Amino acid sequence: MKIIHTDVLVLGLGSAGSAAVYRALRGGASVVGVEQMPGLGGTSTFGGVNNWEPGVSYEGIHREIARRLLKSGDAFVGKTTEYVSASNRYAVSDRSGDSYETTLRRFGVHPDDMRRLHYEPDAMTEVLQELMEEAAPEEKRTLFYNTRFVSLETDGRRISSCLLNTPDGTVTVVPRIVIDCTADILPSRLAGCSYAIGQESRDAYGEEAALEKAEQCLNGLTQCFRITETGTEMPSVPSEYDDVDLTEWENYMDRICGPVSCFNVYPRGGIYVNMLPTGEGDLFLKYDLPELKHLCEARAYSYVRWLARNNYLRGWEITHLFPLIGLRETYRLTGQYVLTLEDIYHGYAPSLGMEHSIALADHPADTHGRGSRCRDTYPGYGIPYECLLPKEIDNLLVACRGSSFTHLAASSTRLSRTMLQLGEAAGTAAALCIREGCDPADIDPVSLHRMRINMK
Ligand SMILES: Cc1cc2nc3c(=O)[nH]c(=O)nc-3n(C[C@H](O)[C@H](O)[C@H](O)COP(=O)(O)OP(=O)(O)OC[C@H]3O[C@@H](n4cnc5c(N)ncnc54)[C@H](O)[C@@H]3O)c2cc1C
Repeated sequence: MKIIHTDVLVLGLGSAGSAAVYRALRGGASVVGVEQMPGLGGTSTFGGVNNWEPGVSYEGIHREIARRLLKSGDAFVGKTTEYVSASNRYAVSDRSGDSYETTLRRFGVHPDDMRRLHYEPDAMTEVLQELMEEAAPEEKRTLFYNTRFVSLETDGRRISSCLLNTPDGTVTVVPRIVIDCTADILPSRLAGCSYAIGQESRDAYGEEAALEKAEQCLNGLTQCFRITETGTEMPSVPSEYDDVDLTEWENYMDRICGPVSCFNVYPRGGIYVNMLPTGEGDLFLKYDLPELKHLCEARAYSYVRWLARNNYLRGWEITHLFPLIGLRETYRLTGQYVLTLEDIYHGYAPSLGMEHSIALADHPADTHGRGSRCRDTYPGYGIPYECLLPKEIDNLLVACRGSSFTHLAASSTRLSRTMLQLGEAAGTAAALCIREGCDPADIDPVSLHRMRINMK
């Protein structure tokens, strides 16, 4: 069996993972990256989510990514221009021609004036790949695509090796530092780290807006897809979904006149459809992923048919279903610090101080589906480094939507640009660990800022 020794192993190459690889390489470390999809970007490319929501951010690679996408015409800055009546609650985003800076603001901006960066998912994958290649010479980086992380071994408080299923067989990686960016944090769970799933009770972290009792209620999940105008009068649900009973779903759509959906125009034509949601988040606990995907795809086709029946976007049909199902929330690390909604109101974790913050955000706690009830906006808050640090394993950082947040805090932190920041911090921290011969918990968050600024 092939064995690879590396300074840093990054598992999962979505927004956070791509940023982590980039920063670790720029910091001089050798890096192995692992991704089950054929390329980079995760939910924001292979999951089809094609826009960066407005929101504050520290400086970082988002600027360079946006610059390249805007220059090639594969992105635009847009705003929501059309709401189609109360009974047809749809919003179509369109080009506004504003600068990228206008997307870096949410708090205090009227919803009609909020700008997003809309991009082509394939182009985002290409730009991320370019950045990886520019970050360091080839001998420093090994990126495995179509490859699954399957298991790991620990030695006391350290991950000693990770097993990968690559298209060419099994590979063992022996890393100094591991960064778990898989979103569902399988590596951290297998390593024995504490984790949570669902909503915490009010007592657990003293969050006033939390439920009185804990509940297995997750943010809604969405199968994103692309529709194109083909002239087909009434799109059909393909026969491969005949085994799915859609009666209840169709009655539900008639009853609520929906679901509410977000329609974003693609830079190169067609419309991105994001149902809010395609299913309750708890379905994640009831089905295995291929079954869940099959069910959600059937619902997506049925929804496009429902739209045509209701005289909206008649003549349009699904031309692409994205291969990763859009999961807003699953497992979350219970790390050295758990960010709460009260911290978000405060602006940072008071017991740590703002200087521990490695990412800035200002999105509302945006819960979808059952249990949805909290949509306050905040004037901006910092996410502390300690949210990336597990309690049990010394050579592991967890940087993704599954980092150490409560359910309510995670409903605010999960945006792609926030995940890029977490990844940048984790990659920088890992490179510092290699340089100084220490572990992530030994790193002072202030030195992280300094290093990131110095190695732009
Ligand atoms: C439907 C939907 C709409 C959204 N809308 C917006 C929006 O408009 N704007 C916005 O900014 N954010 C939005 N978000 C949130 C945001 O897109 C995600 O939270 C964010 O992209 C997650 O980034 P991540 O790096 O944590 O995880 P991901 O991007 O999901 O990356 C995790 C990666 O790990 C890989 N992986 C997992 N397990 C393994 C394994 N065992 N082996 C190998 N690889 C593995 C996955 O394939 C994936 O590529 C939305 C999310 C959803 C689901």
